[in-house]
Amino acid sequence: MPKIALLPGDGIGPEVTNAAAEVLKAADKAFDLKLEFETFNFGGNAIDAFGEPFPEPTRKGCLAADAILLGAIGGPKWDNVPREIRAETGLLALRKAHDLFANLRPAKVLPGLEHLSPLKPEVAKGVDVLIIRELTGGIYFGQPRGLNDSEGWNTERYSKQEVERVAKVAFESARKRRGQVCSVDKANVLEVGEFWRKVITEVHKNYADVALEHQYVDAMAMHLVTKPARFDVVVTGNIFGDILSDLASVLPGSLGLLPSASLGEKTPLFEPVHGSAPDIAGKGTANPTAAILSAAMLLTHALNRPDIATLVEDAVARVLATNPTPDLGGKANTQSFTQQVIETLRVKA
Ligand code: ATP
Repeated sequence: MPKIALLPGDGIGPEVTNAAAEVLKAADKAFDLKLEFETFNFGGNAIDAFGEPFPEPTRKGCLAADAILLGAIGGPKWDNVPREIRAETGLLALRKAHDLFANLRPAKVLPGLEHLSPLKPEVAKGVDVLIIRELTGGIYFGQPRGLNDSEGWNTERYSKQEVERVAKVAFESARKRRGQVCSVDKANVLEVGEFWRKVITEVHKNYADVALEHQYVDAMAMHLVTKPARFDVVVTGNIFGDILSDLASVLPGSLGLLPSASLGEKTPLFEPVHGSAPDIAGKGTANPTAAILSAAMLLTHALNRPDIATLVEDAVARVLATNPTPDLGGKANTQSFTQQVIETLRVKA
């Protein structure tokens, strides 16, 4: 009986997590997945209830679960709490506790919604790219690091094992998609890039059915704007992935559309890319698409049911095209949007 730990969080987090959980429950009913749900405090609400963002019951619950579905955390109420108990510190601790080393950020321009993209519709058409960012290594964590009055310094460093494990996630993901991986580095300038490229090429020997190309990060930034539809899976290190995944995230045209998954050695985590959106919290108008699509990623990566995930994605695309939420110029609210997705899913299941 797969256990799902729900961490609704703050702001619109509970509204969109509830929507995603309802869709999962509908899928459970149709396909007898035998899911068990348990809800835990996390983020600002956990600071209020326990004095810390990632309290012990949440830690235990997440480690015992098969998947974690998170909404969004933080908000103005907790902006001035000490750094060690900030909501964002809780997220870093959660990632660390589960050694979540691969961050998957798909950016898909849905058919019929090309007009939302900041790119010309003919360039945006067919964009369906999955950026995989190494999340626990690289320059954000490398030693030595430091700062004094005359200089600041950081270290970009990758071990063979760190590159190998994220490379495997990329090649496995490509197998479930269109069979192409593009690895991004700066091998023409940085030794760490040369090393990254060498290890990716070695791991590729076990995935002859997947096509591999390499790009320098500067060229890739241009390609993602001029010909983004050409790419399937893109794998890169922590800092380049941070930048490129944000670049890719604007292609679909709304923050409310973007899901993510973080995979690692323990329980995988699924969450929308958007924040807690305090400006619209409690109004019932949040777009639950990102959270529902995160639940679809959960079906694929935690429950190995990509078939049901596809049904959910198709249902969401259909409702987005016919009756979207206000952020996309529509009139649906979170509840009515979710009910339509569930209805569409029921008909197809
Ligand atoms: P954070 O720092 O936590 O990422 P942020 O303020 O940078 O937060 P969001 O909280 O994601 O970013 O909000 C940015 C804008 O996008 C806000 O105006 C918000 O209302 C809007 N927004 C974000 N998510 C959604 C959603 N699911 N539906 C509708 N609007 C959204």
